[in-house]
Amino acid sequence: METQKKLDKNFSCEFFPPKTDKGMENLLSTAETLKNEINPEFFSVTFGAGGSTRETTFNAVTKIQQSTGCDVAPHLSCIGSSKQQLKDILDDYKNQGIKRIVTLRGDMPSGTVSQSDFNYANELVGFIRDNYNDQFHIEVAAYPETHPQAENANQDMLNFKNKVLSGADSAITQYFYNIDSYFYFIDNCEKAGLDLPIVPGIMPITNYSNLARFSDMCGAEIPRWLRRKLESYADDTDSIKEFGADFVSSMCQKLLEMGAPGLHFYSMNQSEATLKIWNNLKL
Ligand code: FAD
Repeated sequence: METQKKLDKNFSCEFFPPKTDKGMENLLSTAETLKNEINPEFFSVTFGAGGSTRETTFNAVTKIQQSTGCDVAPHLSCIGSSKQQLKDILDDYKNQGIKRIVTLRGDMPSGTVSQSDFNYANELVGFIRDNYNDQFHIEVAAYPETHPQAENANQDMLNFKNKVLSGADSAITQYFYNIDSYFYFIDNCEKAGLDLPIVPGIMPITNYSNLARFSDMCGAEIPRWLRRKLESYADDTDSIKEFGADFVSSMCQKLLEMGAPGLHFYSMNQSEATLKIWNNLKL
């Protein structure tokens, strides 16, 4: 029964491309540990704003694929790149046997202006479908708490629908700490006639100030009670980690029990926090 429960769900882990050889060595060791413990459906590797990690993302994808034998899904964002540049990257991935792409608009690094042939993720989704048929499983991003630059929540949902109808197979959400927002979003997708797996993105809690800064930037809300609780630990990192693991594990448990199709862990290239949650879930 337990095994069946695990088999029904898809688990994945996200990395960012390291800048140094040492960072790559650590990442490969993290990937090996996560593979042995979680055996994820795939690992994914982010793509720096405006195409800034084009080579390092490709290298990380190739190395993780070779060393773990797992499927690896590169992220690819269209802002700041021309159609031809995107096509070159996609061709390289096709030749590398990559089967899944996390397809995004992305953001430009502040103050940078660069020519883009596509303005929104749905255009890149359509481009991949038109040019590569079913070569790639297309993942897109979803925002249960609404994308921070959206005109309003309803328009964001219409834009999400448009992106899915352009050819997406499944979606991964921005992280959240309020499960109502996720299930409300799922209900709205169903009402809009969308029938695709939408996997919650899970951000382990290990450090309060970094999490608060990052959440403000990406529009993920930390509920007031949770902020106050985390603030009360001040610099006591061990307690933050312990409380964070308990809280996020119980959130994941509820998500899975209430029908979420899996979990996508934002691992931050570390295995410890993700594995604590994983082990608490006793899958
Ligand atoms: P879109 O789906 O294009 O949406 C962006 C905004 O435009 C939304 O407000 C939407 O409502 C609006 N919009 C969409 N279509 C239209 C339209 N036709 N007309 C008007 N408005 C429209 N960033 C990175 O730089 N690298 C990464 O590797 C990366 N990985 C991510 C992975 C996940 C799972 C998630 C959730 C986010 C990731 N991001 C990454 C962040 C993401 O790039 C940003 O949130 C970005 O601002 C939006 O990208 P998107 O693909 O969601 O954009």
